[in-house]
Amino acid sequence: MPKKKTKKLIDKNGVRIDGRELNKLRPIKLEVGILDNADGSAYIEQGKNKILVGVYGPKEVHPKHLAISDRALLRCRYHMAPFSVQERKSPAPSRRERELSKVIKEALQPAIFVKYYPRTSIELFIEVLQADGGTRCASLTAASLALADAGIPMRDLVAACAAGKVEGHLALDLNDTEDKEGEADLPVAWIPTLNAVTLLQMDGKVTLEEFEQLVNMAIEGCKQIYPLQKEALKAKYIAVKEEVKE
Ligand code: ADP
Repeated sequence: MPKKKTKKLIDKNGVRIDGRELNKLRPIKLEVGILDNADGSAYIEQGKNKILVGVYGPKEVHPKHLAISDRALLRCRYHMAPFSVQERKSPAPSRRERELSKVIKEALQPAIFVKYYPRTSIELFIEVLQADGGTRCASLTAASLALADAGIPMRDLVAACAAGKVEGHLALDLNDTEDKEGEADLPVAWIPTLNAVTLLQMDGKVTLEEFEQLVNMAIEGCKQIYPLQKEALKAKYIAVKEEVKE
């Protein structure tokens, strides 16, 4: 939601408060397989966002009555640590965290061969350690890597990115200040091989033409993130190969 402005967010040369041009992503760092005690894991830094994802499964469903006879039950918990935002956040799950858990799960499900594992559950735990805007997309990008790391058969990875409107300009991958003080934010999740959009939300107001431009801009962002995901996944296996050689 727009709030009181602190300063101009985009200068006369189209440069943003963090020095980026309008169509640039924040720097992204991805790591796969960093937790010993989860079946799969991944870590993402996107700008100042720091997010850790752990996956368990496919495993037995508890309580049993939740089991689905013809597919795996996908469960997701998106959680923000109390120290992840400027003012201490209550550790209890908020309405927003419940919503994000649901939309993240629904964005990932089409990429997973859930029919291969009837009566089991696949559980995703997303811990936002530091938040700076666009955490649902960064969480999705890391979550699909953690699922792949757990060896869960997937149609493809899911890449996610937001685009938005800031002081009348369309911009890629908004940071927290741009998200809060800007006019609109539109997160998108995209499955490359299916060319399918599995998450599309919008906060704020734009024209129909701007909406189409923002969707395309966000998908372009996903297209830049996807090769970084593949690199991160490969890097884990290169490291394992080196270890085996020694
Ligand atoms: P997303 O993180 O996917 O952009 P929102 O648009 O709901 O989701 O949130 C935007 C940003 O607002 C978050 O990334 C985070 O930096 C900040 N934020 C979210 N919840 C809180 C909170 N409880 N207190 C302070 N800042 C928050």
